[in-house]
Formats: sequence, structure tokens, C-alpha cells
Amino acid sequence: MLEQSTRVHAARRFGPGVDTEFHIDHDWWANSNLDYRFHLYQQLCDECRQRFRTHVDTEAVDWVDAETGEVRRVDALTECLRINCTHQPDFIDDTLPLTAACFRVFLSNDNRPLSPTELSGIFEQSGASRRSQWTPQEILRILNGKQVFMGIRPAPAAP
Ligand SMILES: [Zn+2]
Repeated sequence: MLEQSTRVHAARRFGPGVDTEFHIDHDWWANSNLDYRFHLYQQLCDECRQRFRTHVDTEAVDWVDAETGEVRRVDALTECLRINCTHQPDFIDDTLPLTAACFRVFLSNDNRPLSPTELSGIFEQSGASRRSQWTPQEILRILNGKQVFMGIRPAPAAP
């Protein structure tokens, strides 16, 4: 409890640090002129990308749950990522730029906020930092730069 509030105060005073949590900021996407779903489409695995061909007209499709047979109306790209692509062993690998790798981590964990320190640990485990040194400091430098990449911004501090 004490540690948490100390951390929040430090972030307010000195700006984000390696323990500041980031996430995909959907308000940022809504206010940008970029197409979120186009960027979602880019994260699909090759097989799924060929199946959909485009990100257009897949916002609301009837999706049959393979296990229960239940039909639900969902965003096909989000659903496909959730049940398929994010589980592929190479979903987060060392062919990705750092910002795309971060974006994919948040897609695969339901956008649960993570700090650069935590992201660095995930990249180490997944092999994504094989080519580049994705230290917490390097991740912070990129995510906290002047330009916002893929809507990844500091998550609001817990009340
Ligand atoms: Zn896939």
C-alpha cells in the first residue's frame, strides 16, 4: 500500500519511470486519425490475414463458439486474435519492432497495464529481445518519447 502510493507520487513528480504502467489508450485511438482495426489486422498471423483479406466489414459477425456451439455477435478481428493468433508461439518474437511487440503484449493480456520492467521480462521470456537489447530503460525511452506509438500511453494511476 505504502509502496504503491510512493510510486504514484514519484511518477507525478518526475514523470514516467521504468515502473510506471502503460497500456493501449483507446481514447487516444478514438481521437487520432488512425484506424485501430487496420492496426489490429496487421497483428493477425499469416493464416488469419489471408482468411480475412482486409479489416473492413468484420466489425460485427456471427461467431460460433467451437466448444459450446453458442453464436455470438463479435468483432471478428478481436475474436480471432483472442482465440487464435495471440496463442501462436511466434506472436511476440524478435522480428517485431519494439512498439508492435508492446502492442501485441497488451492485445494478448486484455490490455492489463504493465511497466517497462514487466514488459522487458516478457520479451526476455518470449525471445523477442534476442536481436535487440530491450531493457526497461530502452522500453521507457521509446514509450515515453514525444511521439505516441500505437496508442501506448501511461495508464491512469489506480485511485
Ligand atoms: Zn491467427
